[in-house]
Amino acid sequence: MPKNPAKAPLPETPGSPGSPAVAAPDTTSTTNIADAAKTPRTARTAQTAQTDDRASDDATRADSAPRADDATPADDASRAARTIRADPTHGGNDHPVYVVGAGPGGLATAAALGAHGIRAVVVERSSDVAASWRTHYERLRLHTTRRWSSLPGLPIPRSAGRWVRRDDFVRYCEEYARFHQLDLATGVTVARVDQAADRDGWVLRANGGRELHASAVVVATGYNHTPRLPDWPGMDGFTGELLHAADYRRPDRYAGRDVLVVGVGNTGAEIAADLAFGGAARVRLAVRTAPHILRRSTLGWPSQASAVLVRRLPVRIVDRAARQLERTLPNLTEYGLPRPDTGLYTRVREGAIPVLDTGRTGLIRAVRRRRVEPVAAVVSFDGDRVTLADGEVVGPEVVIAATGYRRGLEPLVGHLGVLDGRGCPLVHGRETHPAARGLYFTGYANPISGALRELSRDAPRIAGAIARSRRERRRA
Ligand SMILES: Cc1cc2nc3c(=O)[nH]c(=O)nc-3n(C[C@H](O)[C@H](O)[C@H](O)COP(=O)(O)OP(=O)(O)OC[C@H]3O[C@@H](n4cnc5c(N)ncnc54)[C@H](O)[C@@H]3O)c2cc1C
Repeated sequence: MPKNPAKAPLPETPGSPGSPAVAAPDTTSTTNIADAAKTPRTARTAQTAQTDDRASDDATRADSAPRADDATPADDASRAARTIRADPTHGGNDHPVYVVGAGPGGLATAAALGAHGIRAVVVERSSDVAASWRTHYERLRLHTTRRWSSLPGLPIPRSAGRWVRRDDFVRYCEEYARFHQLDLATGVTVARVDQAADRDGWVLRANGGRELHASAVVVATGYNHTPRLPDWPGMDGFTGELLHAADYRRPDRYAGRDVLVVGVGNTGAEIAADLAFGGAARVRLAVRTAPHILRRSTLGWPSQASAVLVRRLPVRIVDRAARQLERTLPNLTEYGLPRPDTGLYTRVREGAIPVLDTGRTGLIRAVRRRRVEPVAAVVSFDGDRVTLADGEVVGPEVVIAATGYRRGLEPLVGHLGVLDGRGCPLVHGRETHPAARGLYFTGYANPISGALRELSRDAPRIAGAIARSRRERRRA
């Protein structure tokens, strides 16, 4: 196994204080995460997918802890996985840092903590790393460059090309966890995070009634956590098929069908084009606010590079420059997709990232060939009919809502007063909220320069802040 020579070894030994014990589901024997290093797939993965229902029932009985009330379907799967119990020998500062979520943000931060010699345990509700990427639609490629999508300490291999495929990114995340020898405990859904009774550290309440004691917590459960479906009048009675973009995989299922895609962010644009070039009989794209569209790259220069360069410039200057750039693209007004009035960077500041067109398989080509028909926003449903904002009534067989996600942080940390009115953390990266020292958040921004780039930059900052606060505590 390759090792990162720059990285300090993890201070964990089997059975050491701070090693969460792992109860095997079908026996009473226990082991710990370090023992799981013997599993070949990831170096320190405390995960054993048990498919035998009886075994998982035994596990539940053996544990004899009640299931968390808000258990999710992933919890059901996790009943079959090994489970973590707090090690009673833990003491004070010896508690590990718990990182909640094994997406790119959690993995990068755990690796950065390891580089400081701080033991971090990544807890993940699903059965493997990069869970969200495994279920994204199949044609997905990163719209950020390979270089600026790599996580700290291990570049994405050149063989993955400039615009990395979804599958290659998943493989890269697996390799990242192996390379950095991350302690990963899968099948663990953290339901709530609380300050310890003595206010020295944190307690994570996970499925199965487990309590995990942490010296610090990094929440990395994802900006795109919970699919958001608008509450359209009549939608429950829609007789066609209605799904969220999170459940869309590939176009062949929709071949020959009439599909309405709702929402024109990058996901809606890509799915509409995927359907159009993938055999759907008719594809409409419901647009509430006309999007800014840029090429993913122009003459080899990636849009992301421009975004990185301009992100600290005044908004009106970037808006003006972007307007010039957009004029180099075909005007789609006659096809029903006018250029927006509001400036590009103004919209970014409001949370709307421009659509990055991928060229041959992209939205612009699909619209110009009238394979994708932009239509007005959806207002309501009535049986098999959908009413649009301009009064038009359409009858799609399938509606795919590319209407975004919620952070879903309220049950986890909402009671701590660390979220704003939209459910986003009030502090981010290396900062911790005065009311919740030692609680960090990563990945809760949607920056124009690329989320992966930003969470990669946050990882060493968070690790540095945790290392500093440990040093200060020891000195005190
Ligand atoms: C379709 C799509 C394409 C994208 N493409 C790009 C791109 O090209 N470039 C770019 O820079 N960014 C892109 N992004 C944005 C962003 O980089 C990704 O969403 C990225 O995966 C964010 O990483 P993360 O670790 O913050 O969150 P996630 O990848 O969502 O990982 C969160 C993890 O936390 C786990 N989890 C959630 N709740 C719990 C819990 N309670 N307990 C335990 N585990 C939990 C989840 O199972 C998941 O594994 C894209 C986003 C989407 C949706």
